[in-house]
Amino acid sequence: VSHDTTPAPRQVDTSQMKVSDEVAIQITEMNKWFGTFHVLRDINLTVYNGERIVICGPSGSGKSTLIRCINRLEEHQAGQIVVDGIELTSDLKNIDKIRSEVGMVFQHFNLFPHLTILENCTLAPLWVRKTPKKEAEATAMHFLEKVKIPEQAHKYPGQLSGGQQQRVAIARSLCMKPRIMLFDEPTSALDPEMIKEVLDTMIELAEEGMTMLCVTHEMGFARQVANRVIFMDQGQIVEQNEPEEFFNNPQSDRTKLFLSQIL
Ligand code: ADP
Ligand code: MG
Repeated sequence: VSHDTTPAPRQVDTSQMKVSDEVAIQITEMNKWFGTFHVLRDINLTVYNGERIVICGPSGSGKSTLIRCINRLEEHQAGQIVVDGIELTSDLKNIDKIRSEVGMVFQHFNLFPHLTILENCTLAPLWVRKTPKKEAEATAMHFLEKVKIPEQAHKYPGQLSGGQQQRVAIARSLCMKPRIMLFDEPTSALDPEMIKEVLDTMIELAEEGMTMLCVTHEMGFARQVANRVIFMDQGQIVEQNEPEEFFNNPQSDRTKLFLSQIL
């Protein structure tokens, strides 16, 4: 786990990043258990379109579980999660619909090793969206250009650096044209010199207005890009604020302790 405070790699103009008053995600009194272990407690969270939210907190506090609940990789047992107006229930149609609107990028890139970069990017559009092959490939090349590795399209994941693979993972998500992107420690498995290229890609997404929830220890990124920082501990949202206030004037003792350990 990287606890460094790498500054965001380039100047970010957040004044251009507009937050809408339309709700993207509404979580109400949500609770989740793993067996008897109460992992998420009374989570209430409203995310507006265009927000860049950074979620931080100690290991085991429930950050991954929370964002995995948003695209139903995990199931919650009480309360409500509504994404783009669709409630997440056991209704499979709704789950498919939400998964097609919510992209997710993991710490370990989860690319298919036996498929080329291009094939990794066209797989879901071809098989889930039934997009014609030519169109899926054109879209994939568009997003590979966006993450600045179009020349790698015909290589296999194992031939790329970690930073390049993570950018492919982001491009692959974008090929499904999501409205919301979830990131779970996208730079934690990367060497320091590769963190910058992935953060740059995320900054560009933010500049284009993507709604983003990012679990990350990159506090430089949080300061410069986030409009809101959320601190979780023991399955609860303990505190949230705009970055300036969050870092300079933390309210709870748990937040102060956490910040004193990582900054
Ligand atoms: P974080 O991402 O903040 O480190 P997680 O959401 O991964 O935390 O985990 C929160 C807690 O839930 C931890 O105590 C973890 O051990 C537990 N946990 C996570 N996934 C499972 C699972 N599939 N089954 C049982 N316990 C789990
Ligand atoms: Mg985690």
